[in-house]
Amino acid sequence: MHTNQPDTPKLVDRFGRHVTYVRMSVTDRCDFRCVYCMSEDMTFLPRAQLLTLEEMATLGRAFTELGVTRIRITGGEPLVRKNVIWLFRELGRLPELEELTLTTNGSQLQKLARPLRDAGVRRINISLDSLDPERFRRITRVGELDKVLRGIDAALAAGFERIKINTVAMHNRNDDEILDLVDFVRRRNMDISFIEEMPLGEIEHDRAESYMSSDEVRERIETRYRLLPTTETTGGPSRYFRIADSGSKVGFISPHSHNFCESCNRVRVTTEGQLLLCLGQEHSMDLKRVMRSHPGDMERLRETIVNSMEIKPRGHDFNIDVKPVIFRHMSVTGG
Ligand code: SAM
Ligand code: SF4
Repeated sequence: MHTNQPDTPKLVDRFGRHVTYVRMSVTDRCDFRCVYCMSEDMTFLPRAQLLTLEEMATLGRAFTELGVTRIRITGGEPLVRKNVIWLFRELGRLPELEELTLTTNGSQLQKLARPLRDAGVRRINISLDSLDPERFRRITRVGELDKVLRGIDAALAAGFERIKINTVAMHNRNDDEILDLVDFVRRRNMDISFIEEMPLGEIEHDRAESYMSSDEVRERIETRYRLLPTTETTGGPSRYFRIADSGSKVGFISPHSHNFCESCNRVRVTTEGQLLLCLGQEHSMDLKRVMRSHPGDMERLRETIVNSMEIKPRGHDFNIDVKPVIFRHMSVTGG
């Protein structure tokens, strides 16, 4: 059965929101240990618990048959998963998929930018919190700035339609580099989104101390540039502004100060095949169990996904000062 009729959305939740966007985490592992994302000492999932790449491709098929038009691959660091380009190629071939995107720390882009572009990825997000090598090392604990900058160059050369830098803005860690980062993207005709830190996972650094609101970041940028509001959206939670006299956009992802739940059109699939209905809540459905107990049964898989819409919560309520937090790390959830 081919269930996808564009004018009859299949994934609609109790609040009338249409789910058209899936973020899929392909690994919880990472070659970095960013202070806001992971603890220094991480225990990763045993391999048998992870979805196989084939299972992920099957999920991609099921979702697009239900009206999903955008899939973002994330992690952990998606590009450290062995053979991940195979998955990109499989997903890139799905007829209903309008956009296949990726969020990466950039460390593997020097060799993978071209194969990704060839697999049909047109836009990518690259995370970059500092342009200073030592500071970059302190924030990522182990990362090499130079390698990431070479990755960004490779991505520019590979001809992606749009490249966006993601920066978690933090007091006393990188707040004095906000303007430099904006200049960096302006010079390269890229975009940038500043993200407010979210309380996901138990880590060592003090989030309440480093937390910086999008409004503060925006004020900082407006000391040098005029930001023109735009109605442009990429279907994600960023609010965008165009930098006057430039092709670059600045976005703000503000889960604290501007709640974006009302227009939420997305769900996430964890590395273990849990369908998460909300980043900030625990509501989930075990898709791995469905696929492993009924191999090849696409009908049942689609039905499970459709039924999960009943438990998509209205929204999240993050509070940076209050514990407990959501104990899942962002790397498991798929940032
Ligand atoms: N490893 C890839 C990367 O760093 O781009 C993809 C996964 S990472 C979890 C996705 C995005 O989430 C990154 O831009 C990262 O900076 C952001 N992130 C991680 N933990 C976060 C947190 N606690 N609050 C806000 N953003 C976070
Ligand atoms: Fe790895 Fe990305 Fe998390 Fe940094 S933010 S530790 S690069 S998964």
